Amino acid sequence: MTGADALIADAGTPVVDSPSVALRNVTKRFDTFTAVDDLSLELGQGEFFTFLGPSGCGKTTTLRMIAGFEQPTQGEVLIEGVNVAGTAPHKRPTNTVFQSYALFPHMSVEKNVAFGLKRKKVDKDEIAERVAAELTRVGLAREANRRPSQLSGGMQQRVALARALVNLPKVLLLDEPLGALDLKLRKGLQIELKQIQREVGITFVYVTHDQEEALTMSDRIAVMNRGRVEQVATPEEVYDRPTTSFVAGFIGVSNLMPAKVSGPGRVKLDSGPEVPADTGDLAAGEGCAAVVRPEKLRVELAGDTPPTLDSPAVEGVVESSVYLGTATQLVVGVGEGVRMTVLVPNADESLRQSLPGGGARVVLSWEPQHMHVVIDKDEEGEREAVDGE
Ligand code: ATP
Repeated sequence: MTGADALIADAGTPVVDSPSVALRNVTKRFDTFTAVDDLSLELGQGEFFTFLGPSGCGKTTTLRMIAGFEQPTQGEVLIEGVNVAGTAPHKRPTNTVFQSYALFPHMSVEKNVAFGLKRKKVDKDEIAERVAAELTRVGLAREANRRPSQLSGGMQQRVALARALVNLPKVLLLDEPLGALDLKLRKGLQIELKQIQREVGITFVYVTHDQEEALTMSDRIAVMNRGRVEQVATPEEVYDRPTTSFVAGFIGVSNLMPAKVSGPGRVKLDSGPEVPADTGDLAAGEGCAAVVRPEKLRVELAGDTPPTLDSPAVEGVVESSVYLGTATQLVVGVGEGVRMTVLVPNADESLRQSLPGGGARVVLSWEPQHMHVVIDKDEEGEREAVDGE
Protein backbone atom coordinates (compact mmCIF):
# COMPACT_ATOMS: atom_id res chain seq x y z
CA MET A 1 0.00 0.00 0.00
CA THR A 2 1.40 3.42 -0.95
CA GLY A 3 1.42 6.42 1.36
CA ALA A 4 -1.44 7.87 -0.68
CA ASP A 5 -3.53 4.71 -0.32
CA ALA A 6 -2.88 4.68 3.41
CA LEU A 7 -4.11 8.25 3.57
CA ILE A 8 -7.33 7.47 1.76
CA ALA A 9 -7.93 4.34 3.81
CA ASP A 10 -7.25 6.21 7.03
CA ALA A 11 -8.93 9.46 6.06
CA GLY A 12 -11.37 9.24 8.97
CA THR A 13 -8.89 8.19 11.63
CA PRO A 14 -6.02 10.50 12.43
CA VAL A 15 -2.78 8.80 13.36
CA VAL A 16 -2.79 9.09 17.15
CA ASP A 17 -0.40 11.69 18.54
CA SER A 18 0.94 12.72 15.15
CA PRO A 19 1.04 16.43 14.34
CA SER A 20 -1.77 17.65 12.14
CA VAL A 21 0.76 18.89 9.58
CA ALA A 22 4.52 18.39 9.62
CA LEU A 23 7.01 20.00 7.28
CA ARG A 24 10.42 18.34 7.30
CA ASN A 25 13.29 20.29 5.75
CA VAL A 26 11.02 21.51 2.98
CA THR A 27 12.67 23.53 0.22
CA LYS A 28 11.01 24.85 -2.93
CA ARG A 29 13.05 26.21 -5.81
CA PHE A 30 11.74 27.80 -8.97
CA ASP A 31 14.70 27.40 -11.34
CA THR A 32 17.55 28.90 -9.35
CA PHE A 33 15.32 30.98 -7.05
CA THR A 34 14.69 29.52 -3.59
CA ALA A 35 11.14 30.49 -2.53
CA VAL A 36 11.08 28.29 0.60
CA ASP A 37 14.32 27.39 2.28
CA ASP A 38 14.69 24.31 4.49
CA LEU A 39 11.48 24.75 6.46
CA SER A 40 10.74 22.42 9.39
CA LEU A 41 7.57 22.86 11.45
CA GLU A 42 4.92 20.86 13.27
CA LEU A 43 1.32 22.06 13.55
CA GLY A 44 -0.84 20.67 16.36
CA GLN A 45 -4.28 19.12 15.92
CA GLY A 46 -6.95 21.83 15.93
CA GLU A 47 -4.41 24.63 15.91
CA PHE A 48 -5.01 28.01 14.23
CA PHE A 49 -1.59 28.44 12.66
CA THR A 50 -0.61 31.48 10.62
CA PHE A 51 2.20 32.08 8.16
CA LEU A 52 2.87 35.82 8.33
CA GLY A 53 5.32 37.83 6.27
CA PRO A 54 5.79 40.40 3.54
CA SER A 55 4.93 39.83 -0.11
CA GLY A 56 7.20 37.25 -1.72
CA CYS A 57 8.48 35.67 1.53
CA GLY A 58 7.21 32.20 0.52
CA LYS A 59 4.06 31.82 2.61
CA THR A 60 1.68 31.00 -0.27
CA THR A 61 4.18 28.56 -1.73
CA THR A 62 4.33 26.80 1.66
CA LEU A 63 0.53 26.59 1.79
CA ARG A 64 0.39 25.29 -1.79
CA MET A 65 2.84 22.52 -0.89
CA ILE A 66 0.56 21.42 1.98
CA ALA A 67 -2.42 21.54 -0.41
CA GLY A 68 -0.55 19.59 -3.09
CA PHE A 69 -0.65 22.32 -5.76
CA GLU A 70 3.16 22.49 -5.60
CA GLN A 71 5.66 19.72 -4.91
CA PRO A 72 8.68 20.40 -2.65
CA THR A 73 12.04 20.34 -4.40
CA GLN A 74 13.38 18.71 -1.25
CA GLY A 75 11.92 17.57 2.05
CA GLU A 76 8.63 16.05 3.13
CA VAL A 77 5.08 17.15 3.91
CA LEU A 78 3.15 14.92 6.33
CA ILE A 79 -0.52 15.28 7.13
CA GLU A 80 -1.67 13.40 10.22
CA GLY A 81 1.53 11.38 10.11
CA VAL A 82 1.24 10.34 6.47
CA ASN A 83 3.75 11.46 3.84
CA VAL A 84 1.59 13.01 1.10
CA ALA A 85 4.26 13.14 -1.61
CA GLY A 86 2.57 12.33 -4.91
CA THR A 87 -0.96 12.58 -3.46
CA ALA A 88 -3.17 14.80 -5.63
CA PRO A 89 -4.76 17.84 -3.94
CA HIS A 90 -8.29 16.41 -4.03
CA LYS A 91 -7.08 13.18 -2.38
CA ARG A 92 -5.53 15.05 0.56
CA PRO A 93 -7.64 15.65 3.69
CA THR A 94 -7.35 19.38 3.04
CA ASN A 95 -9.47 22.10 1.48
CA THR A 96 -8.35 25.55 0.43
CA VAL A 97 -10.12 28.90 0.67
CA PHE A 98 -8.65 31.49 -1.71
CA GLN A 99 -8.69 35.28 -1.61
CA SER A 100 -10.58 35.29 -4.92
CA TYR A 101 -13.39 33.03 -3.53
CA ALA A 102 -13.24 30.89 -6.74
CA LEU A 103 -16.98 30.18 -6.70
CA PHE A 104 -18.87 28.78 -9.71
CA PRO A 105 -20.73 31.87 -11.01
CA HIS A 106 -23.48 29.94 -12.82
CA MET A 107 -24.45 27.88 -9.74
CA SER A 108 -26.55 28.88 -6.76
CA VAL A 109 -24.97 29.22 -3.33
CA GLU A 110 -26.44 25.87 -2.33
CA LYS A 111 -25.08 24.11 -5.43
CA ASN A 112 -21.66 25.65 -4.94
CA VAL A 113 -21.51 24.25 -1.41
CA ALA A 114 -22.90 20.86 -2.49
CA PHE A 115 -20.42 20.49 -5.36
CA GLY A 116 -17.71 18.48 -3.59
CA LEU A 117 -20.18 16.10 -1.92
CA LYS A 118 -21.98 15.46 -5.22
CA ARG A 119 -18.67 14.60 -6.87
CA LYS A 120 -18.04 12.11 -4.07
CA LYS A 121 -21.53 10.67 -4.74
CA VAL A 122 -22.75 11.28 -1.20
CA ASP A 123 -26.42 10.42 -0.65
CA LYS A 124 -28.83 13.22 -1.71
CA ASP A 125 -30.52 13.66 1.67
CA GLU A 126 -27.20 13.75 3.46
CA ILE A 127 -25.94 16.41 1.02
CA ALA A 128 -29.03 18.56 1.67
CA GLU A 129 -28.60 18.20 5.42
CA ARG A 130 -24.87 18.97 5.46
CA VAL A 131 -25.16 21.91 3.05
CA ALA A 132 -27.98 23.43 5.12
CA ALA A 133 -25.95 23.01 8.31
CA GLU A 134 -22.88 24.72 6.82
CA LEU A 135 -24.92 27.58 5.36
CA THR A 136 -26.47 28.11 8.78
CA ARG A 137 -23.04 28.05 10.37
CA VAL A 138 -21.81 30.86 8.11
CA GLY A 139 -25.09 32.80 8.39
CA LEU A 140 -26.27 32.33 4.81
CA ALA A 141 -29.25 29.98 5.15
CA ARG A 142 -31.55 32.56 3.52
CA GLU A 143 -29.23 33.13 0.55
CA ALA A 144 -29.14 29.44 -0.52
CA ASN A 145 -30.81 30.07 -3.89
CA ARG A 146 -28.91 33.20 -4.86
CA ARG A 147 -26.03 33.34 -7.35
CA PRO A 148 -22.57 34.47 -6.13
CA SER A 149 -22.87 37.69 -8.18
CA GLN A 150 -25.90 38.66 -6.07
CA LEU A 151 -23.83 38.54 -2.87
CA SER A 152 -21.37 40.95 -1.26
CA GLY A 153 -17.65 40.07 -1.08
CA GLY A 154 -17.96 39.04 2.56
CA MET A 155 -20.93 36.79 1.79
CA GLN A 156 -19.10 35.19 -1.14
CA GLN A 157 -16.18 34.39 1.11
CA ARG A 158 -18.59 32.80 3.60
CA VAL A 159 -19.90 30.60 0.78
CA ALA A 160 -16.33 29.59 -0.05
CA LEU A 161 -15.80 28.74 3.61
CA ALA A 162 -18.99 26.65 3.77
CA ARG A 163 -18.01 24.90 0.54
CA ALA A 164 -14.68 23.92 2.10
CA LEU A 165 -16.01 22.93 5.54
CA VAL A 166 -18.82 20.77 4.17
CA ASN A 167 -16.19 18.28 2.98
CA LEU A 168 -15.04 17.79 6.59
CA PRO A 169 -11.36 18.40 5.86
CA LYS A 170 -8.83 17.58 8.54
CA VAL A 171 -6.95 20.74 7.66
CA LEU A 172 -8.39 23.94 6.21
CA LEU A 173 -5.93 26.07 4.25
CA LEU A 174 -6.76 29.77 3.91
CA ASP A 175 -4.74 31.97 1.55
CA GLU A 176 -5.33 35.66 2.42
CA PRO A 177 -9.08 34.91 2.54
CA LEU A 178 -10.02 38.39 3.76
CA GLY A 179 -7.58 40.26 1.53
CA ALA A 180 -10.22 41.58 -0.88
CA LEU A 181 -12.56 42.92 1.80
CA ASP A 182 -12.67 46.38 3.33
CA LEU A 183 -11.22 46.95 6.78
CA LYS A 184 -14.46 46.93 8.79
CA LEU A 185 -15.78 43.78 7.16
CA ARG A 186 -12.38 42.14 7.52
CA LYS A 187 -12.32 42.80 11.25
CA GLY A 188 -15.80 41.33 11.70
CA LEU A 189 -14.93 38.25 9.68
CA GLN A 190 -11.68 37.72 11.61
CA ILE A 191 -13.68 37.19 14.79
CA GLU A 192 -16.23 35.01 12.99
CA LEU A 193 -13.53 32.84 11.40
CA LYS A 194 -11.89 32.28 14.76
CA GLN A 195 -15.25 31.29 16.29
CA ILE A 196 -15.96 28.89 13.43
CA GLN A 197 -12.51 27.34 13.83
CA ARG A 198 -13.15 26.74 17.55
CA GLU A 199 -16.55 25.25 16.73
CA VAL A 200 -15.36 22.83 14.04
CA GLY A 201 -12.13 22.06 15.91
CA ILE A 202 -10.00 21.36 12.83
CA THR A 203 -6.57 22.74 12.02
CA PHE A 204 -6.61 26.07 10.18
CA VAL A 205 -3.47 27.07 8.27
CA TYR A 206 -3.75 30.74 7.47
CA VAL A 207 -1.63 32.95 5.23
CA THR A 208 -1.56 36.72 5.63
CA HIS A 209 0.74 39.71 5.39
CA ASP A 210 -1.43 41.59 7.91
CA GLN A 211 0.19 41.45 11.33
CA GLU A 212 -2.92 42.58 13.19
CA GLU A 213 -4.97 39.84 11.54
CA ALA A 214 -2.36 37.26 12.55
CA LEU A 215 -2.24 38.53 16.14
CA THR A 216 -6.05 38.54 16.44
CA MET A 217 -6.75 35.03 15.23
CA SER A 218 -3.79 32.72 15.63
CA ASP A 219 -2.78 30.22 18.28
CA ARG A 220 0.73 30.39 16.83
CA ILE A 221 2.40 32.47 14.14
CA ALA A 222 5.37 31.63 11.91
CA VAL A 223 6.96 34.90 10.82
CA MET A 224 8.61 34.36 7.44
CA ASN A 225 11.29 36.40 5.72
CA ARG A 226 12.88 35.53 2.38
CA GLY A 227 11.83 31.88 2.39
CA ARG A 228 12.81 31.21 5.98
CA VAL A 229 10.93 31.16 9.27
CA GLU A 230 12.44 33.72 11.65
CA GLN A 231 10.27 32.93 14.68
CA VAL A 232 7.42 30.57 15.58
CA ALA A 233 5.52 31.56 18.69
CA THR A 234 2.19 32.66 20.16
CA PRO A 235 0.92 36.14 19.22
CA GLU A 236 1.90 37.46 22.67
CA GLU A 237 5.43 36.12 22.32
CA VAL A 238 6.11 37.41 18.81
CA TYR A 239 4.86 40.83 19.88
CA ASP A 240 6.41 41.05 23.35
CA ARG A 241 9.50 38.96 22.74
CA PRO A 242 10.53 39.07 19.09
CA THR A 243 13.82 37.24 18.60
CA THR A 244 15.05 39.02 15.48
CA SER A 245 15.10 42.62 14.32
CA PHE A 246 13.01 41.62 11.31
CA VAL A 247 10.23 40.21 13.53
CA ALA A 248 10.42 43.22 15.86
CA GLY A 249 9.98 45.53 12.88
CA PHE A 250 7.35 43.53 11.05
CA ILE A 251 5.12 43.03 14.10
CA GLY A 252 4.36 46.50 15.34
CA VAL A 253 6.56 49.54 15.22
CA SER A 254 10.29 49.05 14.78
CA ASN A 255 11.53 50.56 18.06
CA LEU A 256 15.13 49.41 17.96
CA MET A 257 18.16 50.98 19.64
CA PRO A 258 21.57 49.71 18.52
CA ALA A 259 23.47 48.28 21.48
CA LYS A 260 26.17 45.89 22.64
CA VAL A 261 25.79 43.22 25.30
CA SER A 262 27.93 44.35 28.23
CA GLY A 263 27.25 41.34 30.46
CA PRO A 264 24.45 38.92 31.37
CA GLY A 265 21.20 40.93 31.53
CA ARG A 266 22.91 44.22 30.62
CA VAL A 267 23.41 46.18 27.42
CA LYS A 268 25.24 49.38 26.61
CA LEU A 269 23.09 51.45 24.26
CA ASP A 270 25.02 53.17 21.48
CA SER A 271 23.18 56.34 22.49
CA GLY A 272 24.81 56.29 25.93
CA PRO A 273 23.54 54.54 29.04
CA GLU A 274 24.06 50.97 30.15
CA VAL A 275 20.66 49.45 30.97
CA PRO A 276 19.21 46.11 32.06
CA ALA A 277 17.72 43.94 29.32
CA ASP A 278 16.85 40.33 28.64
CA THR A 279 19.95 39.36 26.68
CA GLY A 280 18.93 35.73 26.10
CA ASP A 281 21.96 33.62 25.18
CA LEU A 282 24.00 36.44 23.67
CA ALA A 283 27.55 36.79 24.98
CA ALA A 284 29.20 39.96 26.26
CA GLY A 285 30.55 42.08 23.42
CA GLU A 286 27.96 40.93 20.86
CA GLY A 287 26.19 43.59 18.84
CA CYS A 288 22.40 43.62 19.00
CA ALA A 289 19.41 45.93 19.02
CA ALA A 290 17.37 46.71 22.14
CA VAL A 291 13.58 46.80 21.73
CA VAL A 292 10.93 48.57 23.79
CA ARG A 293 7.37 48.64 22.47
CA PRO A 294 5.85 52.16 21.98
CA GLU A 295 3.14 51.73 24.63
CA LYS A 296 5.76 50.70 27.21
CA LEU A 297 7.70 53.97 26.94
CA ARG A 298 7.08 56.95 29.24
CA VAL A 299 7.96 60.44 28.13
CA GLU A 300 8.86 63.42 30.34
CA LEU A 301 10.57 66.74 29.78
CA ALA A 302 14.31 66.34 30.32
CA GLY A 303 15.35 67.19 33.89
CA ASP A 304 18.50 66.91 35.90
CA THR A 305 18.23 63.27 37.00
CA PRO A 306 20.62 61.10 35.01
CA PRO A 307 19.40 57.63 33.96
CA THR A 308 20.31 54.80 36.34
CA LEU A 309 20.29 51.03 36.11
CA ASP A 310 17.12 50.94 38.25
CA SER A 311 15.13 53.31 36.07
CA PRO A 312 16.48 52.88 32.57
CA ALA A 313 16.06 55.87 30.30
CA VAL A 314 17.49 57.72 27.32
CA GLU A 315 17.40 61.35 26.35
CA GLY A 316 16.13 62.61 23.03
CA VAL A 317 14.33 65.33 21.11
CA VAL A 318 10.69 65.17 20.03
CA GLU A 319 10.60 65.17 16.23
CA SER A 320 6.85 64.90 15.76
CA SER A 321 3.63 64.56 17.70
CA VAL A 322 0.54 63.18 15.97
CA TYR A 323 -2.98 62.89 17.35
CA LEU A 324 -4.37 59.42 16.47
CA GLY A 325 -7.75 59.58 18.23
CA THR A 326 -7.28 56.93 20.92
CA ALA A 327 -3.62 57.83 21.46
CA THR A 328 -0.98 60.43 20.68
CA GLN A 329 2.11 59.23 18.85
CA LEU A 330 5.42 60.95 19.51
CA VAL A 331 8.53 60.24 17.49
CA VAL A 332 11.67 60.95 19.50
CA GLY A 333 15.16 61.10 17.99
CA VAL A 334 17.65 59.53 20.40
CA GLY A 335 20.79 60.12 18.36
CA GLU A 336 22.49 59.03 15.13
CA GLY A 337 19.35 58.45 13.12
CA VAL A 338 17.70 56.30 15.80
CA ARG A 339 14.04 57.15 16.35
CA MET A 340 11.78 55.77 19.03
CA THR A 341 7.99 55.88 18.75
CA VAL A 342 5.98 56.50 21.92
CA LEU A 343 2.24 55.90 22.17
CA VAL A 344 0.46 57.76 24.94
CA PRO A 345 -3.23 56.87 25.47
CA ASN A 346 -5.55 59.86 25.18
CA ALA A 347 -7.71 58.79 28.16
CA ASP A 348 -6.67 61.83 30.21
CA GLU A 349 -7.20 65.12 28.35
CA SER A 350 -5.04 67.19 30.73
CA LEU A 351 -2.18 64.70 30.32
CA ARG A 352 -2.55 64.94 26.55
CA GLN A 353 -2.44 68.74 26.69
CA SER A 354 0.77 68.59 28.73
CA LEU A 355 2.66 66.29 26.36
CA PRO A 356 5.94 67.77 25.08
CA GLY A 357 5.70 69.18 21.54
CA GLY A 358 8.12 69.16 18.59
CA GLY A 359 11.68 70.23 19.46
CA ALA A 360 11.35 69.53 23.20
CA ARG A 361 14.20 67.74 24.98
CA VAL A 362 12.73 64.72 26.71
CA VAL A 363 13.62 61.63 28.68
CA LEU A 364 12.19 58.29 27.61
CA SER A 365 12.01 55.70 30.37
CA TRP A 366 10.68 52.17 30.75
CA GLU A 367 10.44 49.32 33.23
CA PRO A 368 13.53 47.07 33.03
CA GLN A 369 11.44 44.00 32.12
CA HIS A 370 10.12 45.75 29.01
CA MET A 371 13.45 45.82 27.22
CA HIS A 372 14.98 42.86 25.51
CA VAL A 373 17.42 42.36 22.70
CA VAL A 374 17.12 41.05 19.18
CA ILE A 375 19.66 40.11 16.56
CA ASP A 376 19.78 40.54 12.83
CA LYS A 377 19.27 37.02 11.46
CA ASP A 378 21.08 37.80 8.19
CA GLU A 379 24.09 39.13 10.06
CA GLU A 380 23.97 36.05 12.29
CA GLY A 381 23.97 33.84 9.18
CA GLU A 382 26.97 35.70 7.80
CA ARG A 383 28.73 35.37 11.16
CA GLU A 384 28.07 31.63 11.27
CA ALA A 385 29.37 31.29 7.72
CA VAL A 386 32.56 33.14 8.67
CA ASP A 387 32.94 31.09 11.87
CA GLY A 388 32.50 27.88 9.89
CA GLU A 389 35.30 28.68 7.46
P1 ATP B 1 2.35 37.18 -1.70
O1 ATP B 1 1.62 37.57 -0.48
O2 ATP B 1 2.78 38.34 -2.54
O3 ATP B 1 1.70 36.09 -2.48
P2 ATP B 1 4.06 35.14 -0.62
O4 ATP B 1 4.84 35.29 0.63
O5 ATP B 1 2.84 34.33 -0.55
O6 ATP B 1 3.75 36.57 -1.18
P3 ATP B 1 4.91 33.33 -2.63
O7 ATP B 1 3.71 33.49 -3.49
O8 ATP B 1 5.04 32.09 -1.85
O9 ATP B 1 5.07 34.59 -1.70
O10 ATP B 1 6.19 33.51 -3.55
C1 ATP B 1 7.51 33.44 -3.03
C2 ATP B 1 8.48 33.76 -4.14
O11 ATP B 1 8.46 32.71 -5.10
C3 ATP B 1 8.15 35.04 -4.90
O12 ATP B 1 9.34 35.73 -5.17
C4 ATP B 1 7.50 34.55 -6.16
O13 ATP B 1 7.76 35.44 -7.23
C5 ATP B 1 8.20 33.20 -6.38
N1 ATP B 1 7.31 32.27 -7.09
C6 ATP B 1 6.13 31.79 -6.62
N2 ATP B 1 5.57 30.94 -7.50
C7 ATP B 1 6.42 30.89 -8.57
C8 ATP B 1 6.42 30.17 -9.79
N3 ATP B 1 5.43 29.34 -10.11
N4 ATP B 1 7.47 30.36 -10.62
C9 ATP B 1 8.47 31.19 -10.31
N5 ATP B 1 8.55 31.88 -9.15
C10 ATP B 1 7.54 31.75 -8.28
